[in-house]
Amino acid sequence: MTTSVDPDLSPIYGDSPTFRMARQQLDAVAEATDLDAGVLDRLSVPKRAMIVSIPVRMDKGGVKVFTGYRVQHSLTSGPSKGGLRYNPSVDLGEVVALAMWMSWKCGIMNLPFGGAKGGISCDPAVLSLGEKERLTRRFTDEVLSIIGPRQDVMAPDMGTDEQTMAWIYDTYSMRVGYACPEIVTGKPVEVGGCIGRREATGRGVTYCIMEALAELNLRPHESTAVVQGFGNVGSVTCQELHQRGLKIIAIGDRYGSIRNLKGIDIPALAKHVATGKLVKDFPGAEPIAADELLTTPCTVLVPAALERVITAENAGKLACRVLAEGANGPTTVEADAILSRSDIFVIPDVLCNAGGVTVSYFEWVQDIQQLMWSESMVNDKLKELMLRAFHQVLKLSRDRKLPMRTAALILGVEKVAREKMIRGLYP
Ligand code: NAD
Repeated sequence: MTTSVDPDLSPIYGDSPTFRMARQQLDAVAEATDLDAGVLDRLSVPKRAMIVSIPVRMDKGGVKVFTGYRVQHSLTSGPSKGGLRYNPSVDLGEVVALAMWMSWKCGIMNLPFGGAKGGISCDPAVLSLGEKERLTRRFTDEVLSIIGPRQDVMAPDMGTDEQTMAWIYDTYSMRVGYACPEIVTGKPVEVGGCIGRREATGRGVTYCIMEALAELNLRPHESTAVVQGFGNVGSVTCQELHQRGLKIIAIGDRYGSIRNLKGIDIPALAKHVATGKLVKDFPGAEPIAADELLTTPCTVLVPAALERVITAENAGKLACRVLAEGANGPTTVEADAILSRSDIFVIPDVLCNAGGVTVSYFEWVQDIQQLMWSESMVNDKLKELMLRAFHQVLKLSRDRKLPMRTAALILGVEKVAREKMIRGLYP
């Protein structure tokens, strides 16, 4: 069974390959399950999508108008939850796909949230701090009618950070007339953020990798890793893996890639980057071409930057044992078919990077209860929930002889579908 909703929604979502990918994945779940046809149709499109124009006064004078999106895929399980992305590639189709993936991710982790995502088409690297603040505050104001702590809660994603969330928190609070920290997660700890939220996604990725290595009888101290992206997810994953004895032999970001087969000194690289220098200029490694990064032989490959970087062209050349998807949607459907015929153990994005939304949930609960958890409570609970989900996915994959991705998506989609069936269709 596939959805009867027109798969070619290009008049609405543009010709977005990322949206097509999310829809093809949902079709694969429908093939492997007996989802109710009406529910499948409802899940194949977002509940609502808002497009806003954001005029910003620029430092050099004049006004520039940016386009922003907020998409809520599902509100069935609770408020919708999802990051806000600042990147030049952002378009409606990409944001819709990311919102769908958030629904499945919250389902897999059994969190009381639906999926959402937002984005602004801009290059944050060329905006000043003041321009970013004005952009963020005006965007918040433009989407005010559809967000709220019980409606839709934002968090950081690519190109946004704790400071971005603090501006959203402040703008929303000024508009409603009281301090409302539960409007966003991933805030600075000083204003109601959760200890460990910044590191949560990378930590969750690491817990999954350690579990996969154990399943494959591979020793961490004899294992190597290659990481694409040295932002929030990539840098924390590098640090956590390094602490557990893995050798990180290659790292790349949008400016270039480096390799050192003896192992990159991660604490030294973190210091280098913290002083504003680029990964590619790190003296303790040699530069390599961007397309060499993903095919470097290693035990664990972690794409932690963009979507659709593992494609039909390079999937057959991957030389890793474990593919741990820190990024959302790094592997195309065509590449997935190639990987499913290989012996690569895939930890799919909707499971692998779910640590972020899980600790976001902890933050939201703490803000509502006005009660702060300790760091050990946060990390212990995160580990418990990540391992539970990892083993549920692995068991389903083994029991039904399905790829890990299909198993993960089935768990996530079926949870949302079940809730839709029980709640019924209004009116
Ligand atoms: P970030 O902005 O902190 O870092 C992004 C990294 O990707 C940077 O190192 C950047 O240089 C690199 N990058 C950008 N373009 C690139 C290119 N063309 N080639 C190689 N590298 C490139 O973002 P982040 O928060 O670390 O998010 C990374 C990925 O993880 C995204 O897919 C995001 O959706 C996903 N994710 C993030 C979180 C979170 O909590 N931040 C949670 C779940 C999933």
